[in-house]
Amino acid sequence: MSQPSAVAGARTPAFGEAFTAHMVTARWTADRGWHAPRLRPFEQLSISPAMVGLHYGQVAFEGLKAHRGVHGSLALFRPGEHARRFQQSARRLAMPELPEELFLAAARDLVRADGDQLPADPGLSLYLRPVLFATEPCLAVRPAREYLFVLIAFVTAGFFGPRPEPVSVMVSRTHSRAVPGGTGHAKVAGNYAPAYLEQLRAEQAGCQQVVWLDAVEHRWVEELGAMNIFFVRGQGPGAQVVTPSLTGTLLPGITRDSLLTLAADLGYQPAQERVSLDQWWSECRSGVITETFACGTAAVVTPVGRVRDEQGDWTIGDGTAGPVTLALRDALVDVHTGLSADPHGWMSPA
Ligand code: PMP
Repeated sequence: MSQPSAVAGARTPAFGEAFTAHMVTARWTADRGWHAPRLRPFEQLSISPAMVGLHYGQVAFEGLKAHRGVHGSLALFRPGEHARRFQQSARRLAMPELPEELFLAAARDLVRADGDQLPADPGLSLYLRPVLFATEPCLAVRPAREYLFVLIAFVTAGFFGPRPEPVSVMVSRTHSRAVPGGTGHAKVAGNYAPAYLEQLRAEQAGCQQVVWLDAVEHRWVEELGAMNIFFVRGQGPGAQVVTPSLTGTLLPGITRDSLLTLAADLGYQPAQERVSLDQWWSECRSGVITETFACGTAAVVTPVGRVRDEQGDWTIGDGTAGPVTLALRDALVDVHTGLSADPHGWMSPA
């Protein structure tokens, strides 16, 4: 994940650097299970240098947001979905699953305690970062018997600023983010640092993000940095809004799922299918693919303007944010802020 590329104004806070006043913690031990959930001041943690999470990467996390609605109250976006994905990520690393009620109560408690730190600016939201990690001091290579859950928060703008400029992306043909049977479908710490080297190479090439292809054939487009990717085929009301199918190597993004639903609501044709790099290029060239965008909790909806690849670069449409991209982004942001109805019950009052 890179830092925001577009400076959205002096008030835009840096992503994930200044945290709110409180945090929630809870412990799990083999003999007591989950216990001692509590809201407490944000402070340093004391951990053992032999902690399993530090050495062997038993670490899973989530990212969700609370938004201030037009009437001033705060609501979390699809917290139950995030709680369930957090459980799936934990399961993949043989860690105890945090009960959904505990996750939801922790999120509500933190938003209630620190919600007043979110300015009444529709461009800002409160980003919540739950993380679960193995705290047992033990260097044997086996699942730990002690874990800590921590929930912290910070105020953020959309990752690339309130109205993002299209980003340029670089196709990686040498590195892979996820392999079949691996952890690509889970939100675990070990998926992220291995992407940094390609992210740096992308930045050196003047791009903001890496396009990840599948690891077996190096042919299918899977994700964009730490975001899901969408393609728009055609124009206007009947446009097809396509995203790669969940093959097990992609993170099942909650923004991805929400946009598929909103696309149908807006009269577009949502679809999940594999899209190859060749198809992406040739359909852009022939004018079939008119837009491409990335999406995620942090990035919201971010248009892609240009693709760099060793076999040739190309521009998507005219290189600017397309109308379907902007319509979907507006529809999502309007649900977040309560400007539109919430027919799917996605907003959960804090
Ligand atoms: N893919 C990856 C690898 C991610 O880390 C994220 C961010 N969680 C996403 C996609 C988008 O997921 P979501 O919409 O649930 O934030």
